[in-house]
Amino acid sequence: MKGELSMSMTSAEIRQSFLDFFASKGHTIVSSDSLVPGDDPTLLFTNAGMNQFKNIFLGLEKREYTRAADTQKCLRVSGKHNDLEDVGYDTYHHTFFEMLGNWSFGDYYKKEAIAWAWELLTEVWGLPKDRLWATVFKDEEGELETDEEAARYWAEVTDIDPEHIVYFGRKDNFWEMGDTGPCGPCSEIHLDRGVDACDLQDDPNHVCGVNSGCRRFFELWNLVFIQYNKNDSGVLHDLPAKHVDTGLGFERVVAVLQDVVSNYGTDLFTSIMDRVQEMIGHSDAEREANIVAYRVIADHGRAVTFLVGDGVLPGNEGRNYVLRMILRRAARFGRKIGFPGPFLSEVAKVVIEKMGPHFTGLEARREFILQTITQEEDRFQRTLDVGLNLLDDLIDGLIARGETVIPGDEAFKLYDTYGFPLDLTRDVAKERGFAVDEEGFVAALEEQRELARAAQQFVLEVGEKLEVYSDLLDELKRMEVLPATGVEHLYSEGTEAEAKVAAIVRDGQVADSAREGDEVELVLTATPFYVESGGQVSDTGVIVQDGEWRVAISDVRQPLPGLIVHLGEVVSGEFRVGDRARALVDAERRLDIARNHTATHLLHNALRRVLGQHVQQAGSLVAPDRLRFDFTHSAMLTSEELSQIVQSVNEAILANYPVTAIHSSYKEAIAAGAIALFGEKYGERVRVLKTGDPSEPFSQELCGGTHVNRTSEIGSFHIISESSIGAGLRRIEVVTGRGAQEFVQKRMGVLGSAAASLGCSPDEVDQKVRALQDEVQRLAKAVAHLRREIAHRDFEELLSQVQDVSGVKVLAAQVEAADLDTLREMSDWFRNRVGSGVIVLGAVMDSKPGFVAAITPDLVERGLHAGQLVKRVAQVVGGGGGGRPTLAQAGGRDAGRIGEALRLVPDLVERGLS
Ligand code: ATP
Ligand code: MG
Repeated sequence: MKGELSMSMTSAEIRQSFLDFFASKGHTIVSSDSLVPGDDPTLLFTNAGMNQFKNIFLGLEKREYTRAADTQKCLRVSGKHNDLEDVGYDTYHHTFFEMLGNWSFGDYYKKEAIAWAWELLTEVWGLPKDRLWATVFKDEEGELETDEEAARYWAEVTDIDPEHIVYFGRKDNFWEMGDTGPCGPCSEIHLDRGVDACDLQDDPNHVCGVNSGCRRFFELWNLVFIQYNKNDSGVLHDLPAKHVDTGLGFERVVAVLQDVVSNYGTDLFTSIMDRVQEMIGHSDAEREANIVAYRVIADHGRAVTFLVGDGVLPGNEGRNYVLRMILRRAARFGRKIGFPGPFLSEVAKVVIEKMGPHFTGLEARREFILQTITQEEDRFQRTLDVGLNLLDDLIDGLIARGETVIPGDEAFKLYDTYGFPLDLTRDVAKERGFAVDEEGFVAALEEQRELARAAQQFVLEVGEKLEVYSDLLDELKRMEVLPATGVEHLYSEGTEAEAKVAAIVRDGQVADSAREGDEVELVLTATPFYVESGGQVSDTGVIVQDGEWRVAISDVRQPLPGLIVHLGEVVSGEFRVGDRARALVDAERRLDIARNHTATHLLHNALRRVLGQHVQQAGSLVAPDRLRFDFTHSAMLTSEELSQIVQSVNEAILANYPVTAIHSSYKEAIAAGAIALFGEKYGERVRVLKTGDPSEPFSQELCGGTHVNRTSEIGSFHIISESSIGAGLRRIEVVTGRGAQEFVQKRMGVLGSAAASLGCSPDEVDQKVRALQDEVQRLAKAVAHLRREIAHRDFEELLSQVQDVSGVKVLAAQVEAADLDTLREMSDWFRNRVGSGVIVLGAVMDSKPGFVAAITPDLVERGLHAGQLVKRVAQVVGGGGGGRPTLAQAGGRDAGRIGEALRLVPDLVERGLS
């Protein structure tokens, strides 16, 4: 490919030239959204550039710009888009990739989108025009209009070879966001990489062409024209505004511009693969021989780095599981090519170095990313060890049952529950002469995938309710009941406000009035009520017109930016839209919440001081009765650490620091040392909450919540629990203020009554309990000793029951014993006493029968086998067992038949003697 200017461009320059080009066409450059879609629970990961603009297309949201361009971090490993299986085997599908895009929100349309895409590709980047093809929509079912408009613009505003404008149907060229909603035709730009790139040349029926299945042609850029809205019954209506949504595969375009056949040949991947090669000491030929592993490691290494960078941690569900799976897959490939232990953090370092300059969050979280990755690799190593043990047990069991194949569902269980990979199961099985039922494995996997797929379907929830809210908000703004920015939010000013009733929603419908007994959603022109966010729960309270009417508010929500609804019940009177109203937050509850919120910051700060700067907030709940704080840390906290933390926070409370909020730019706040939360999105202007002297604060965090004015208002701080909530994640629960007081009182009460029972003072309880424990232990020892004595005595009596079976001493008897160990010990005594013989003992343990059989070696030589013997005996009580020829044990269900079972023994011995 001979583009003059492009040949020497690095990937960073190519990304920048895309953004610069669209900036020059009046586009606002927007930053990439997180890989974790913030407000869309239906979508596991961001998988296309349009995700962050979805609400604009749906008409639910407006932005200041109508033209935008960006590069969006995307991940396609789950749900509707899953390219995982292709990664490593083809050279242009990745798990993690960047999608470059330009957007028009009701601004320009097909003509400009086509002209600019063409200009950028051919003029700016110098791609040869004769290698480019454009596809246009033509409905194979003849129902929808052919996109002649796009075809015409391709012919008119570009100088593409007219033969290269080709038509395709719904699958390739009609784009839908979901079963309903915005949709429209699209036009794709494909690149012809020349005859040699075709991988189907051996197929006599294959003809190369766009969308014909070979690798000669591949999709570079998709221009989507959103012009319809599809309703529930599948009918398309023209949208009032038409939009453009494009997606250009960044790695693919870099490969083309750097003139390499594979995305892995671009500078985006070579530096990673070089590092892998260097670490492992492969020759170039060895690297080539293991190229799939190299690609998978490079691809997954990028995905893992970015996922952790966006706040995802390895775990067993949802997003966390996907990260774990990708990371372990990379680790497996690493092990295959010879890495003995963790190595992925080295890969991540290269990724951070390469991508950090554009995606600046990576550098900021560098230590955390590296640490998280290595920890998970370590954990994986332990999983492998556990899995190997389980597999050994499984195989032992199968041998005992005379089987030679590991059932598919067992192999799947190892894989699914313990993360133990199939190829390892296969290897171990082979070593022990076993096969694996791989069909059964696949069937189990498919079954689970079906479930997962059903759960993850990209369903677009445009609930009816959301439409009501959206129409309402538009209307309120149009009528100027609400300013353009929506409901005025006053919560930081206090707990009371005068306002007007802007709207009432009753039974999901907009209403004019409400009366006593109605459940309502009430919109005010201004509100002091806090809406749940940043972990802090919503306020409750009342909205009243004194002497006229009163609504008790139990919750507050913000269904759309700018619209705040108060949920509650009308407790008296009747009111209408337009009424004056006083909004009164439950101030005492608000203060409880504020105590816990400020205490949360102090706790966060203390954790970092005591445990280290790696501590990151991973979740938080600020409620009136308690606070819950989740954070990253890999070990259980020692009591020493816990008391240091409690002390640090309580000292800050007693220091009576002032708590102040200032507003500044995000950059300045971070530079001044304020803590920003992981995975949280911040605007340009932020609110910084400072505790202590504002010029040299004790703690400072970006925060929009409500706080106390001085730390002494918190009263006191007690940790009520500390626990693990997943790999590398811990949770602390705390009470403050009134909650702390209640907690302490209750504890003192319990301590007091314990002291009374023990007959000592509260200070002595600890000592007294320890003395009691010692006493209990001593008694337990004495009991065990006595038990043995009794067993010994019983045993002497038992010896009188020894029978002679063809010259062999045989003892089969039921005894009293608490466990199999005692039975084993008794059988030892027997062997010591008689020198040569057979003993089978049975006992009822936990109301179930148990047996031990022992046979001296001389009799084993004569054909007796303790395992077989005890198995036959146990059959009588509906059980089974086995073991070595000299010693074996068994269990069963029916304790009532132990005697009957034991009576078989002489006969079995008789027959067993050869
Ligand atoms: P393909 O058919 O090649 O899988 P697609 O139809 O799934 O592509 P779109 O959903 O239209 O792709 O995404 C827009 C662009 O993103 C594509 O034109 C392509 O260049 C790029 N792209 C899509 N999937 C991947 C991936 N897994 N890795 C890298 N780039 C991709
Ligand atoms: Mg695809």
